[in-house]
Amino acid sequence: MDDSAARLSVHDFSKTDVGLLQSKELNQYILETNVYPREPEPLKEIRNATASQPWNFMITAPDGGALMALLLKLINAKKTIEIGVYTGYSLLLTALSIPDDGKIVAIDIDREAYEVGLPIIQKAGVEHKIDFIESQAIPILDKLLEDPKKEGSFDYAFVDADKANYLNYHERLMKLVRIGGLIVFDNTLWLGTVAWASDSLLDDRMKLIRHHMLKINKFLAEDARVQLSQVPVGDGLTICRRLY
Ligand code: SAM
Ligand code: CA
Repeated sequence: MDDSAARLSVHDFSKTDVGLLQSKELNQYILETNVYPREPEPLKEIRNATASQPWNFMITAPDGGALMALLLKLINAKKTIEIGVYTGYSLLLTALSIPDDGKIVAIDIDREAYEVGLPIIQKAGVEHKIDFIESQAIPILDKLLEDPKKEGSFDYAFVDADKANYLNYHERLMKLVRIGGLIVFDNTLWLGTVAWASDSLLDDRMKLIRHHMLKINKFLAEDARVQLSQVPVGDGLTICRRLY
C-alpha cells in the first residue's frame, strides 16, 4: 500500500510559522522587532511578488537575508556568485549590499522565476551588477575555472540550489572564492530534520534532501580548509570562510 500521503512533505513544513526555533511567538518577535522594520523596500516587494508564486516557500528567509547583507558588508564583497536565484530575494539583497561597480554571477535553470523579481531589481537600480545565466550551475562554475584569472577572484558565494550538488559546488567554489572569502550554504538544518532520530515520517523528497544535508554538514565539519559557523537562522545557514 502507498502510505506516502501520510508522510510529511516540504509543503507541510512551509505551512507552519514556527521556524527552526519551533516557537511561533519567538519567530514572530525576531521578524517584527528587527528584521521587517529594517528590510529594504525592494526586498519587501520581492517577498510580496513571490507570495502568489508556486513554490513560494523557496524564498530566502528574511532573517537569514539580514545576516547575509551584514556579512557582505563586513567583508567588503564586490564580486560574488549566486547558485539558485528563484525570484531573486537573495540576489537583490546581494546587489543592494555590494558597491556600484560590484558584480554577481547569478545562475539558475529557471529564468521565468527570475523574471518575477526582475522588474523590482530594475526599479531598485541594481540590474547592472547582475550577470544572470540560465543554466545548470556546474558547467558554468567549470567554465569560470577554465580561466586562471578567475581563480580566487570572488569574495563571496551563496549556494541555494539543488542540494544533491552542494559538495560539488563546495569543491569548485573553494577554488573560485579568494582566501578569506565566504561560501554560504542555505537550508543546512533542513527544517530541523537533520536532528531527527529517524526519517520515517518524511516523504521521499524530504528524506533525500535530509540525507544530502547530513552528508554536507559532516563534510564541512571535517574540512580543515574552512572556518565554519552553522547558524540557526531561516532554515539554517552554514558560513564557511576559506582559510587556504
Ligand atoms: N535564493 C533564492 C531566493 O532567495 O529566493 C531561492 C532559491 S530556490 C530555493 C532554488 C533554485 O535553484 C530554484 O530557482 C531552482 O530553479 C534552482 N536550481 C535547481 N537546480 C539547479 C541547478 N542544477 N543549477 C542551477 N539552479 C538550479
Ligand atoms: Ca533556500
